[in-house]
Amino acid sequence: MKREAFTIQEESNGTIHLWIHTSNESMNVLNQSVLQELDGLLQELAQLRKARILFIRSGKPNVFVSGANIREIEKIQSQLTAKSLVTEGKKVFDKLADLPFPTVAVIDGVCLGGGLELALACRYRIATDNLKTRLGLPEVQLGILPGLGGTQRLPRLIGLQAALPLILSGNPIDARKALRIHLVDAIYHPEYLKWGIETFRKQVLHAPQKILRKRRQSMAALLLEGNPLGRMLIYRTAKKTILTKTGTHYPAPLAALQAVRKGYRRSLQRGMAIESRYFSRLAVSPVSKHLIRLFFTGQQIKKETYSHNLADVQKIQKTAILGAGVMGGTIAWLFNNHSVPVILKDISWKAVAQGFQSCRRAYAYLLKKGKLTPAEVDMRMLRISGQTNYTGFKRCDLVLEAIPEDLRLKKTTLQELELYVAPETIIASNTSALSIDEMASVLRYPNRFLGMHFFNPVNRMPLVEIIPGKQTSASVLASAVQLVKDLGKTPIVVKDSPGFLVNRILLPYLNETTYLLAEGAKAERIDKIMRDFGMPMGPVELLDEIGLDTAGKVVHVFSIQPKTQMESNGLLERILTEKSFLGRKNGLGFYRYRKGKKTGFNEAINLFVREVQYHQHISPRYLPDKEIRERLLYRMVNEAMKCMEEQLVASETLLDLAFIYGTGFPASTGGPLQYTHDLGHGNLLDALQRYQQRFGERFLPCQTLQHERHAQPRYRHAERDGIKSKHTHTH
Ligand code: NAD
Repeated sequence: MKREAFTIQEESNGTIHLWIHTSNESMNVLNQSVLQELDGLLQELAQLRKARILFIRSGKPNVFVSGANIREIEKIQSQLTAKSLVTEGKKVFDKLADLPFPTVAVIDGVCLGGGLELALACRYRIATDNLKTRLGLPEVQLGILPGLGGTQRLPRLIGLQAALPLILSGNPIDARKALRIHLVDAIYHPEYLKWGIETFRKQVLHAPQKILRKRRQSMAALLLEGNPLGRMLIYRTAKKTILTKTGTHYPAPLAALQAVRKGYRRSLQRGMAIESRYFSRLAVSPVSKHLIRLFFTGQQIKKETYSHNLADVQKIQKTAILGAGVMGGTIAWLFNNHSVPVILKDISWKAVAQGFQSCRRAYAYLLKKGKLTPAEVDMRMLRISGQTNYTGFKRCDLVLEAIPEDLRLKKTTLQELELYVAPETIIASNTSALSIDEMASVLRYPNRFLGMHFFNPVNRMPLVEIIPGKQTSASVLASAVQLVKDLGKTPIVVKDSPGFLVNRILLPYLNETTYLLAEGAKAERIDKIMRDFGMPMGPVELLDEIGLDTAGKVVHVFSIQPKTQMESNGLLERILTEKSFLGRKNGLGFYRYRKGKKTGFNEAINLFVREVQYHQHISPRYLPDKEIRERLLYRMVNEAMKCMEEQLVASETLLDLAFIYGTGFPASTGGPLQYTHDLGHGNLLDALQRYQQRFGERFLPCQTLQHERHAQPRYRHAERDGIKSKHTHTH
């Protein structure tokens, strides 16, 4: 048999090394042909008389096996195919588990999904404490569950309480944690791995009990997991955690829990069959198809360089930030946390000090999680230079401005800044909505300027919109994109247009919220309806979060822009005149806040609601849930389609990912555009037209929808992906 993915190396003492090196670039990936090859090899190995021990090792650096081939899973269209795929894979792993001599997985790098399931089919696992070593079962993050035995072998090996978080969250762990929970039997420094393998070989062959004894669970864990009541408690707690984290929008973690629960006390064979059943249901679910599509979009962004020539990409080694406010302070933290030296400049020392406080707050989270020690945080903070002048700016590769959203102020500050930096220094603006070209117009070297829009809170939001102006050079764009990737964020390149992409789509949603409030819908109800839909917070809460003053100004900017022309009912503008209602930042918005916690509705704001009702002759009414949800959602997705018409971003999937990453729109829907496909464009058009008749032009359907009424639908992704529409198309 021809060997492509594996090599066997035999030693005279009966030690066999099985090396994996699949054809995928830097990773080892399991696909059907690799598993078939392994199957044949295991058959040969089982006959080897002189074999005493088998080590499974990777022929590539920093990876053991990174998982199964997701493209194969994406293509699955029927439950039957899904079931036969995992059943075949399981048979191969069973063969590995049944080999007549001890087997050891040697994990020096990424060991995820199918890779970990392969390791679990071995009798022993050893790992290195290489920083790249990560063990995990990330399947639920793609809407499926570990289908090659992960939900059955893992809890049997390390116990329910240690296994469930790994299976249900999908988050990987490092080698030390793996050793603590007995997922691996030993860890070694990568430099001493050869010695480690030899030592472990001797232990396995001469004193295996010593290794197995270490795996024993504590008495408390045994007592809890060994009785039905204890297990019930564990399952209940796990379910509660899933429901609070993801609601009911993601079926995979709940199904994975069921697979563990139903299979755990049965024979392994029975458990495996149960797992396959749940896997095959999930593999064909729309949620899984959506999550996989988003996963590939993320991969595509990682590869995209925006430059044909790598020499174009300038390495950003020294940076400065203008403005130590809400954004500047935490962006400085982000740079500092990724070892990018940063100067934080403001116009007053008080503001600089506040910026430092924001940095410390961002570090406090890492301290709490035990990722850093207080001394390490202190050391890092010392590397940020706080100042009120331009000293050192000449040596900066990039300066980001995060001063207040005022075009005149930004223009004069940028002109001033240009006097203090080198001609090749990249200058970026963190503006939320102002025109990049307009700002560039005052610069001597406009080709070095672009927008880099970070989202608040910077430490949690993964997205950065990159906005090149008409004159931005390719090398400046490529360098900014690379910097964002180096900072661990996702860069998405967006055209220069009011509100760019995410805010442009979000604004109609917030604007509609003010109409709903004025018509008599209660803030708590609006928020609950959208949280139930899967948004991380309701739109009224979001208004408070953004700040009612800022939101009012942005709505105003949008209302006078020809492209967005968003009529306003005046509610936010009225509140803007009353300076004591700023939202969360001063404890009073639509809700009241005390010590950062929401304490109830702010009754005083009703005065402004009544004013709007009076001026617009509105008599308050009861609005059904469906109407509230549809009006909010449909305005948002209609705007998303308009952004696509204007080609603000290169593809639909990029738009979907950007909006999910920028706002927390539920990934289970696949994003706002995918949502319109699943809903059916005909249905969306009908609903928008109905609302347009009742409420006017703000519900005017986008051109794509209007044209599709008379022509073949342009978007057919849902069908292409084999996803059935929830509703039938009406045309
Ligand atoms: P902020 O008001 O909290 O902070 C601005 C800081 O800039 C203040 O400390 C001010 O003293 C300082 N400043 C003013 N003029 C300066 C100058 N010439 N040189 C140096 N510092 C100067 O503002 P923010 O909320 O951090 O917003 C900053 C920018 O980021 C704006 O363009 C805003 O639109 C954008 N943005 C804000 C958010 C958000 O949620 N706050 C999100 C994304 C983008």
